[in-house]
Amino acid sequence: EVEAARNAASAENLRSPICCILGHVDTGKTKLLDKIRQTNVQEGEAGGITQQIGATYFPVEALRKKTQVVNADGAFEFKVPGLLVIDTPGHESFTNLRSRGSSLCNIAILVVDIMHGLEPQTLESMRLLRDRKTPFIVALNKIDRLYNWKPIANNGFRDSLNMQQKSVQAEFRDRLEKTKVAFAEQGFNAELFYENKSMAKYVSLVPTSAHTGEGIPDMLKLLVTLTQERMTRQLMYLTEVECTVLEVKVIEGLGTTIDVVLSNGILHEGDTIVLCGTDGAITTQVRALLTPAEMKELRVKSVYVHNKTVKAALGVKITANGLDNAIAGSRLLVAKNKDDEDEIEELEEDVMGDLENLMSKISKTGRGVTVQASTLGSLEALLEFLKQSKIPVSSISIGPVHKRDVITASTMLEKAKEYAVMLCFDVKVDRDATELADKMGVKIFTAEIIYHLFDDFTKHMKALQEQKKEESKMLAVFPCVLRPVAVFNKTDPIVIGVDVIEGNLRMGTPVAAVKMNPVTNVKDIISLGRVVSIQRDHKDLPICKKGSPSVAIKIESPNQPTYGRQLEEKDTLYSHISRASIDCLKEFYRDEVDKEEWGLIAKHLKGLFDIP
Ligand code: GDP
Repeated sequence: EVEAARNAASAENLRSPICCILGHVDTGKTKLLDKIRQTNVQEGEAGGITQQIGATYFPVEALRKKTQVVNADGAFEFKVPGLLVIDTPGHESFTNLRSRGSSLCNIAILVVDIMHGLEPQTLESMRLLRDRKTPFIVALNKIDRLYNWKPIANNGFRDSLNMQQKSVQAEFRDRLEKTKVAFAEQGFNAELFYENKSMAKYVSLVPTSAHTGEGIPDMLKLLVTLTQERMTRQLMYLTEVECTVLEVKVIEGLGTTIDVVLSNGILHEGDTIVLCGTDGAITTQVRALLTPAEMKELRVKSVYVHNKTVKAALGVKITANGLDNAIAGSRLLVAKNKDDEDEIEELEEDVMGDLENLMSKISKTGRGVTVQASTLGSLEALLEFLKQSKIPVSSISIGPVHKRDVITASTMLEKAKEYAVMLCFDVKVDRDATELADKMGVKIFTAEIIYHLFDDFTKHMKALQEQKKEESKMLAVFPCVLRPVAVFNKTDPIVIGVDVIEGNLRMGTPVAAVKMNPVTNVKDIISLGRVVSIQRDHKDLPICKKGSPSVAIKIESPNQPTYGRQLEEKDTLYSHISRASIDCLKEFYRDEVDKEEWGLIAKHLKGLFDIP
């Protein structure tokens, strides 16, 4: 009974879902948002669409109007009270809409340019959506750019497509199929929205044009359908406050303010709030809750309206003292009793726990790169990505890069030089910091796309490896066995003719003969020196492979061994390997040594030179 009562209540008690728009730059995210905000000029009313701080609110009446062309019979039932769309498209808002590691964004629109397919930031958006398990639909935007497309403003997509010439329909199908394949490659099954049998299994692709408005009614209807079908439980209105800081902004006359999204509960003027700051928790009182003034109220002095209370879901600006160090992406908690010190302490610990949670992702070995990001949300996303890419992290920080951050990173120069690297996402690096880093040899990589940092780091590791390889060149010894066939010059330098009977002879290889001393019965290793030239028919060769015709080789050595004295023509020669040379091959030349050559080292040469 209680359950039934609760269910009945919940239908009336749904809050508006929060929607983010993500996608690659220039796919039309801003334009799409503008287009859905646009009021219907003919009907001359906004239908209650309200501009909030960092978000636009679409009440259900507005959604009903905007989806009319694809819901002519009114059969589609709206259960949500409205839709809150975050105004700043892109990763930042999405990653900051977070609460204890999960997303407050209930649903997302991933915008893809139908003419371009999946682009780098599209892939990154997909990764974020997957990590946070956020349901999304895909707007395949710019359909008006299909060759010869005849637009019908604000029409439903299906109807518009049916009106097109066969060639346009064919081009559309072709691009659609390509997109589906591209999604499949990323591990998502995607279907054209009206051919999608299961929204739980397939991502819906909805073709749109932000210019002509076509497909936008479909997109809105689909958004509402998906939220209603998939997540009514998450959309229950709760009295407990659930709120996130989207942006920290300095506003003339107001000082540092925070723009927050209240996804559940109620905020009041005067509330005691607790949030994350770069220097520890911030506890302060709400001075004002501001929303934008409507255009027609131009007579009002301020651009903002003061609210005594605000109710979820909405975007609102909060002014208060002490917000200078506030961190975007932080949760905002409200104290029940502002005088209860224990409670406040608990809330402070709770909120700072988010940052500590991220600290716990730091490598236990104390070796790893330094990571710096603009907000808690982006730092979290970056750390998750680095974890998946198996790049260890030794320290993290939020905000611009200063000298002291470089000094922290520089501790790696001693411990693990390759990790004396700062991966900076969407943050400024101050001049002094850059100079210091250059001087100390700390690498700073900055990027606005997370996985560009991965590319930079990978390149950096590769360059270091190349450098080490270059430095180790003299140490690497490739295995071979040589049988001399002629002695042209006995000493200084030795010049002999040889056949390569095992392995491959390369330039620079040190060679030695191994003989038993008949008197002492002790193994005698006679080092001849390094091979400095390999020639056949007076032509230089970099390498001579096993079984190829004889070559003349020149060997230089400071010890000046001499044929006729210690050496005889019949003495077989071997590449002079050591423990260090084997290790060097393993580390830098693994790909260049084949099975047979490894076998030659293991079965023959190691024993010969008494290497354990
Ligand atoms: P954002 O970077 O994703 O926010 O992209 P914008 O909304 O700024 O759009 C980028 C460019 O694409 C602008 O020049 C838009 O006019 C254009 N654009 C956006 N949507 C469409 C569309 O549906 N059709 C066409 N032809 N151009 C579009």
